[in-house]
This record gives sequence, structure tokens and C-alpha cells, in this order.
Amino acid sequence: MGKKERLRFFRKVHVFVKRNALALLIAFSTALTLGAIAISAYSALSKEDNYSTPVSNVTEDTDPNVPTAAEPIVFISPLDTITISKEYAADHLLQDKTTGIWQAHQALDFAAADNTDAKAVYSGTIESVVSSMMEGTIITLKINDNLRVIYKSMAESYVEAGDKVAAGAKIGKVGTNVTEKAEGVHLHLEVKEKDKLVDPNNYFAFGDK
Ligand SMILES: [Zn+2]
Repeated sequence: MGKKERLRFFRKVHVFVKRNALALLIAFSTALTLGAIAISAYSALSKEDNYSTPVSNVTEDTDPNVPTAAEPIVFISPLDTITISKEYAADHLLQDKTTGIWQAHQALDFAAADNTDAKAVYSGTIESVVSSMMEGTIITLKINDNLRVIYKSMAESYVEAGDKVAAGAKIGKVGTNVTEKAEGVHLHLEVKEKDKLVDPNNYFAFGDK
């Protein structure tokens, strides 16, 4: 490009700018405005990012719909001394000492001395205390909606329906019952998941030995 050509070019540009000053001004300010909008949108977006990150974390932590690893429920012993006098037997029969009849035993029996207190194996609410001619005093401890511990062959109850008990709280005195008379003083302990009796050993640390 020669000097003359360059001069001509600049003159052309000058004329062009003069003729289109208004249009150029509009174009320039439009570009500026768009730029400003883009910048503010971007900063708003990144602000939102900074803001939403901790919020979503909190939501994850407290969302009740997100399953969390549930603490396994482990029972403490209902008696100070553990002497299993009759094991749990759902799928095989045990001969009953009292009747001589072979039958399933969906419970765990703990032999006990006279005047032995039974303790709550876990914290919960006493759901009912019932006196049964055949099974002695029956105390039902509700641990949650799906889990109950039923104490049978009790001589007396220290608690009543509605009482909240902590694990280890003395809830009654162990006695005898008619159906398992030959076992003498003992605690017949059942564990119910929903409506199904299950092996109490599943919940005791001394189970699976
Ligand atoms: Zn029993």
C-alpha cells in the first residue's frame, strides 16, 4: 500500500465515520451494553454457584429421603448373669420340660435366681403390661415401629404402658410361668420384627458364639 493509497483509505474511513457517526455510536453503545450484560450475567452466575454449592451439601446431609447407614441395634443383657436355659428354635422342635411335648420355641430363655430384676435391653417405650395366667406378667417394650421385645414369665412389673425407659432400666422382676413351669424362675424373651418372631440372638452381642 502506497502513501497515496493509505491517505485515500484514511480519507474514506473519515468520510465513512462522518456519514455514519450516529449508526456507529449506536453500534458501539450496543456492543458496550451487551458486554456489560454478559459480564453481570456471568458474575451473577458464578455468585449463584458459590451460593448454591454449600446449600446443596446441607440438603444432602439432612435429606430424610437419602438412606444413611443405620446404626445396628445391639441389645444389652436383660439379666446380670446370662444363663440360656432354652435356645431359640423356630425351624426345629425342642422337647418342653413341662409338657414333654416337642414344640418350637421362638424365644430365648434366661435362667434366673429368685428376685432377679430384668432390665430393658434397649431404650424404648413400654407398650403394654399384661397379666397372663399361663405366661405370667408380659411386658412389651417397643424399640421402634418395627421392633419389639416381649418379656414373659415375669413375676411383677415396675413399669406401665407409656413409660419411656433407657437401656438397662429395671422394668420388673423375673418369675415363673405355667407353660414353662419346669424351668423354674426364668425370663422368656421374645423379639418381634413387625409381626414376626425372630431369633433374639440376632440382637445380642453374645449371640453367634
Ligand atoms: Zn421360653
